[in-house]
Amino acid sequence: MLNKIISEENIQKAKKLALHYDKIVIVTHQAPDGDALGSSLGLYHFLKQFGKKEVQVIVPNDYPAFLHWMPGTKSVINAEWQGRNAEFAIASADLIFCLDFNTLKRISQLENPVRQSKAKKILIDHHLSPEDFCDVTISHPEISSTSELVFRFICRMGMFEYVNEPCAECIYTGMMTDTGAFTYNSSSYAIYYIISELLQKGIDKDAIYSRVYNQCKEGRVRMQGYVLYEKMKIFDEYKTSLITLSEEEHLRFNPERGDTEGFVNIPLSMEKIVFSAFIREDKGIIRISLRSKGTFPTNRFAAEVYDGGGHLNASGGEFLGTLAEAVRKFEEALPGYRDLLE
Ligand code: 5GP
Ligand code: MN
Repeated sequence: MLNKIISEENIQKAKKLALHYDKIVIVTHQAPDGDALGSSLGLYHFLKQFGKKEVQVIVPNDYPAFLHWMPGTKSVINAEWQGRNAEFAIASADLIFCLDFNTLKRISQLENPVRQSKAKKILIDHHLSPEDFCDVTISHPEISSTSELVFRFICRMGMFEYVNEPCAECIYTGMMTDTGAFTYNSSSYAIYYIISELLQKGIDKDAIYSRVYNQCKEGRVRMQGYVLYEKMKIFDEYKTSLITLSEEEHLRFNPERGDTEGFVNIPLSMEKIVFSAFIREDKGIIRISLRSKGTFPTNRFAAEVYDGGGHLNASGGEFLGTLAEAVRKFEEALPGYRDLLE
């Protein structure tokens, strides 16, 4: 049996809303990752299978090429390209699920439409400190993926029978990508109990792994070599590494969306490194990705230095300014964290 995490009160309140309403929108955070899309499409397939006809997934912008295979992506509205459709769907919804984000600023241009919508709202998320904007807030930072929470939510409503294979594939993908293919935040037995349930729904977990991780273009692999050989700076004193990549450098490698994903994790494979940062220029915006091993709080660093956030071992943020300025900010901040990096 799966242990109970979500409170009975939240399950009953959310179930009542889910049963009652028909025009349902599911929104997730900007730059959607495997868990954002996995939880959203997992819930989408479940609701369709249950018999809901008008369910719409909306993403603020595009997601990496290695997620395009996921079942249901063709029906997703990308608000960057179909802004009016997105706003119309949100304005006409009577129930909105907010998945894998804790504050409305994480859905960028969809923030105001969602805030102003009169629809009932249900948040399902695993980031710390959720903003209080929903009728039901299912927030569990101790759970490694929102996809796992969606699975738990479905089971606790007594609706496991409506989890079909596409739903199971999406949920598995989110659980896998938010744990680095079950290499961190993945020691709870419940994860493997859930996986066994998903396998019984017919998923091929090895094929999913391959679709996500083994479909890189040549440019990405060469770029990986380049950033590690030429662009990685080690701060031995602080057990820290920093990789930077300018737009011009990125463009040399025939880039596609999401192809720098995972670079930030590689320096952590060195014994001496506990904190790894990747700062890159992306269409004029500076994006910061932070990862750590052990107890170093990347979310504190992200919040204090870049007004970002995230989890203890994986965080991010954006910086308005030049790449050089973002790097200077990083290097100036580092000594302030000396005690935590010993
Ligand atoms: P990534 O490095 O994969 O872009 O982000 C890692 C994690 O950091 C995400 O799962 C998310 O929790 C958090 N994160 C990334 N960017 C931002 C941001 O701009 N603001 C906040 N609050 N969190 C972020
Ligand atoms: Mn997540």
